[in-house]
Amino acid sequence: MTTPAYEDDNIFAKILRGEIPAVKLYEDDDTLAFMDVMPQAPGHLLVIPKSPSRNLLDADPEVLARTIPVVQKLAKAARKAFDADGVFIAQFNEPAAGQTVFHLHFHVIPRHEGQVLKPHSGGMEDMDVLKANAEKIRAAL
Ligand code: AMP
Repeated sequence: MTTPAYEDDNIFAKILRGEIPAVKLYEDDDTLAFMDVMPQAPGHLLVIPKSPSRNLLDADPEVLARTIPVVQKLAKAARKAFDADGVFIAQFNEPAAGQTVFHLHFHVIPRHEGQVLKPHSGGMEDMDVLKANAEKIRAAL
């Protein structure tokens, strides 16, 4: 089974090109982190490499090696910002596994004991809430 080719009309490619807005948290030469607009818990964010790949399956290992430290950095910041008991990292490959946006991304979700996660790709969060949560994470970076 081969991984389909990358297509640059996906929504994260548009965010990287500045064609649509995102509530950004962190950026360097290789990666971008921003708030997920349909958070499964407060502070749910995404980390993406700037380099194009559809998902983990077709990613360059060197790109992954530069991305994971940023996932760790944002996971620590999100944990601190939300005083979380833990942090859930998720990453989906292909529709059968739940992938809906076809540019590699890592979900970073603060977790609290006993708090049930909202559904994946559920409702849109209010923009003011996303911005306030982003401010907390930026302050913890
Ligand atoms: P998935 O491809 O299933 O791993 O998930 C894609 C994620 O992207 C979902 O959690 C969506 O809520 C999120 N998402 C979709 N569009 C945007 C957007 N424009 N900005 C930020 N997050 C988004």
